[in-house]
Amino acid sequence: MFESVVALVAGLLIGSFLNVCIYRMPRDLSVVRPRSFCPACEHPIAWYDNIPVLSYFLLGRRCRHCGQSISARYPIVELLTAALFFAIVNALGPTALTAKLCLLVALLVGLTFADLEERTLPDEFTLGGTAVGLALAWFVPVDNDGIAHVLLPAAGIRLSEQWMSVAESALGAALPSGFLWLGGLLFEKIRHKEGLGLGDVKMIAMIGAFVGLYPTLLTLVLGSIAGSVIGLIYILAAKKDASTYELPFGTFLGFAAIFVALVGQKVIHWYTGLL
Ligand SMILES: [Zn+2]
Repeated sequence: MFESVVALVAGLLIGSFLNVCIYRMPRDLSVVRPRSFCPACEHPIAWYDNIPVLSYFLLGRRCRHCGQSISARYPIVELLTAALFFAIVNALGPTALTAKLCLLVALLVGLTFADLEERTLPDEFTLGGTAVGLALAWFVPVDNDGIAHVLLPAAGIRLSEQWMSVAESALGAALPSGFLWLGGLLFEKIRHKEGLGLGDVKMIAMIGAFVGLYPTLLTLVLGSIAGSVIGLIYILAAKKDASTYELPFGTFLGFAAIFVALVGQKVIHWYTGLL
């Protein structure tokens, strides 16, 4: 009970901070200073108008000073982060893995909405997240049945459990992102246009550093399928020009990675059980 309340409150507050990052990072603004301001009139927002979710509805979804409507993204990001933290804490209890997964989904929510709104995946989240994922692998084991556990002993390399976990994290970051980068390069050579941003490649590296190779490959497959299907439906429904419309691939990768982080182990076990 106590843990659930902490998870909800922490999720709301971190979601609120993610909203600041989503707006400011693509504009190269500091996420610490100045205090929160209205993006329309730049008037500072008082603390009582800045309470997650609640203020949005109390203010009637409008800025108190200029009357401009406030984006629904603010309460959505706060509620989503709180719901995900709540689900993770209830499934795993207060463990180191819980904290690590909460950090991962926070990064993913930030990237998902930054890409959707700004078509940008901030380096602070992708590259910074990759470094943090690699470091955390020392403390929280990454995939005990992963690729490094197969490759390294076969090559005669014996490592401690901690280094083995870091190796899983490093291979999880390097292999899928390298694969994606090569695929993008190939597409460019053949079609003579950019098919994939470097941000997507860095985002996949971040996901791999946190969860290892197999869950990241599953994320890539699910994200690509969802992106193609939903993207195509959107282009047709909204009558967009398919040759110029820029699909927020990071948004689909983000949702796929959240799904895989929460239930992916079950999907992978089910799949390898079929083989
Ligand atoms: Zn305003």
